Amino acid sequence: MGLIHKLPLHLVNKIAAGEVIERPASIVKELVENALDAGAARIDVAVEDGGRKGVAVTDNGCGMAEADLALAFAPHATSKITAEDDLYSIETMGFRGEALASIASISHAHIRTCPRAAEGEGVVASSGGFEIEASGETVGQVRPCACAPGTTISVRDLFFNTPARRKFLKAAGTELGHVSETLARLALPHPQVAFTLTHNGRGVLNLPAASSTLQRIADLFGPDVSEGLLAIAGRNGPVSVAGLIAPPSAARATAKWQYFFLNGRYIRDRLLGHALREAYRGLVDPNRSPAAFIFLKVPAADVDVNVHPTKIEVRFRDGQLVYGELLASLRSTLNRANLSAPVSLDSASQSAVASPDLPPPSPAAEDRRASIRQALADFFKSSSSPQPHLGFPAPQRPPVTTAPQMPHQGDMSAQPPAVSRPGPSHLADPAAPAGSGAATMQVHNAYIVAPCEDGLVIIDQHALHERMIYNDLRRRLSTGKLAGQRLLIPQPLGVTAAQADLLARFAELLATLGIEVAAFGPGTVAIQQFPSLLAGRGVAAAEFMRELLDKLAEDENTDSERLLADVLEMLACKAAVKAGQALTAVEIDALLARREECEKGSACPHGRPTTLKLTLRELEKQFKRT
Ligand code: ADP
Ligand code: MG
Repeated sequence: MGLIHKLPLHLVNKIAAGEVIERPASIVKELVENALDAGAARIDVAVEDGGRKGVAVTDNGCGMAEADLALAFAPHATSKITAEDDLYSIETMGFRGEALASIASISHAHIRTCPRAAEGEGVVASSGGFEIEASGETVGQVRPCACAPGTTISVRDLFFNTPARRKFLKAAGTELGHVSETLARLALPHPQVAFTLTHNGRGVLNLPAASSTLQRIADLFGPDVSEGLLAIAGRNGPVSVAGLIAPPSAARATAKWQYFFLNGRYIRDRLLGHALREAYRGLVDPNRSPAAFIFLKVPAADVDVNVHPTKIEVRFRDGQLVYGELLASLRSTLNRANLSAPVSLDSASQSAVASPDLPPPSPAAEDRRASIRQALADFFKSSSSPQPHLGFPAPQRPPVTTAPQMPHQGDMSAQPPAVSRPGPSHLADPAAPAGSGAATMQVHNAYIVAPCEDGLVIIDQHALHERMIYNDLRRRLSTGKLAGQRLLIPQPLGVTAAQADLLARFAELLATLGIEVAAFGPGTVAIQQFPSLLAGRGVAAAEFMRELLDKLAEDENTDSERLLADVLEMLACKAAVKAGQALTAVEIDALLARREECEKGSACPHGRPTTLKLTLRELEKQFKRT
C-alpha cells in the first residue's frame, strides 16, 4: 500500500480552520463580514465569557432560502463568486466559502435564517424561517423555525474538539478586547450600519447608524480621539484616498489609533504604514504616532486580496503608485493645515498665535494648563529664591559682552524695555542658524523675532524651550534614568492614603524620573531625591510633587507610555524659561542655535505652535507692494 492518501474532509476543514479561526474574535470577523455581505443595516454581536463560551451574530440582512441554507456549512460553498474571473474583481468581504465550514468543524454552530422579502413586498412574517446545526464532522438537516427576516449564527464551545488550540485562548477580558478591536475594524468602514456588542448580556458597544466616518470614530473612541482630526485632502487619481488624520500636535504614545482600509476592508501593510510615517516626518517626535483613519479605494482588478486566508494582507499590482498617492494626499493635508502657522494679518488682531487649523485644546486640558500656569505664577510670586536661569548649553563662542540694553539676567524687578536688542556680536556667527543675525530680538520678554530665508519667524520662547527640554528628556530616558539630586534635608510632604498608594504604585516611574520618596510617619512622606533638572530652577520639591500626584491620579488608567509623556511634558513646562523673562543675547542665541533640531516639530509638547512664520510675500501683499 502506498504512503500517500487523501485526508478526510473533516480533517481538511480542521486544518483550514486553523488558518482562519484563531480565537473568538476571528469568528466575530467572519460572521460580521457575512452579515455585511448580506446587506444588513443592523448587526448585533453577543459574546459570552470573552467569546470562549459562545459568540452569536444577528443581522437584518437578506437571509438565506432553504436550499441555500442546506449548503451554508459545506466547504468551498459560496454565493459570492462563480468563475475564476470573479476572483479578480471581488466586491464582497467573503468569497472563499470556507468560514462557516471551518467554524463548524471546531465548534457547535447553529444558523437560523429567514429570507428578506423582495423589495416592495413588505416584511415576511416571522415563522417563515429555517435552521440548521453543524458540529465537528456532522451537518444536520434544514428544519423550519420561527425567525425574523435576517440571520442569526451562533457558535458555542469553540475548539471543543481541538484541546491544544483551546489552551491558547486567553482570559475572557483579553479575548473580549480582541473582539471589540475586530468589531471596530469592521464598523469603521461601514458607518451607515448600526452595531452593538454585548458581553455576558451587558452592553459593551453601541454604535448607531452614523452619517459620517467622523461620527463613527467619535462613537467608537470618544472625543479624545475624534476631536481635531483633519479630513484628508482627497486626490482624483487611480487611487482614491479618504479619511481623517490627527494634526501632529495630537500625536500619541502608541500606534493604536492607526487604521488602514482598502476597498472597505481593514488591512495591514508595511508600505502604507511607511507612507504615514513619512508624511509626518519632522512634524512629530519619532516616538509618537498620530491617529489616522485611512480609506483607500483601488479598482478591484488592481489588488489581490487572495493572499492571506484572513485577507488582512493584500498585494497591490502597483504598490509604488499607491504609496505615492497616499503620501501626496497626506502631505497636502498636513500642508494645508499649515503647521508652521503663517500669521494671517487679516485676522491678526483676533489671533496671531494659534494656527486656525490646529484643534482648540479641550476644555479639560485647558483648565489643567491654566491651573498649572497659575500654580507656577503663584509659586514664583511667593518665592524668594533667585529667578531660575536658563541653563542652555553655552554656545561655542565667546559670550556677548556688548548688550547694554539687556536687563540683568533674571532680574525681574527691573522694568524691561518692550524691545530688547542684543548686541551686534551675533552678526557673523557661522554656526548660527538662518534665524540668528543682527535683527534678532526679544519682544515683550516673551517672543523672539528673527529673520529667515523667505521672511521672518516669531518664536514663543517658552514653547520652544519647553520643546527642547522635552526632546532632551525623551532622548535621555531612552538610554537610562534622569539624574536626581539628593536633598540635604529631606522635605516632608503631607499625603492622603490614596496619594500614598499612588506613590507606591508608580515607584518605578518616579525612580526613572530621579525622584525618591520614603515613608515618614502617618500621612507624611519625605522627598529625598528630586530631578536635578528642576532643582536648579528654583522649583520647590513639595510643590512639584503635589502637582505630580495630581497628574498621576488623573492619568492612572491611561497607558504607561502616555503617562510618561504627560509627566515629561510637565517637567519640561516647569523647567523651561517663562514668558515675561528677559533673556540675554547669549541665551537668545543658545535658544536659536538649537531651534533647527526642534523646530521641525513646530509645536511645544502641549500642542501649541512654537514658531509662527510671516513670509515676505505676505508682507508685500500687506504693504500693497504687489
Ligand atoms: P463566504 O462568505 O466566503 O461566501 P462563508 O462560509 O462565510 O463563505 O458563507 C457561506 C455562504 O453562506 C455565503 O456565501 C452566503 O451565501 C451564506 N451566508 C453566510 N452568512 C450569511 C448571512 N449572515 N446572511 C446571508 N447569507 C449568509
Ligand atoms: Mg464569509
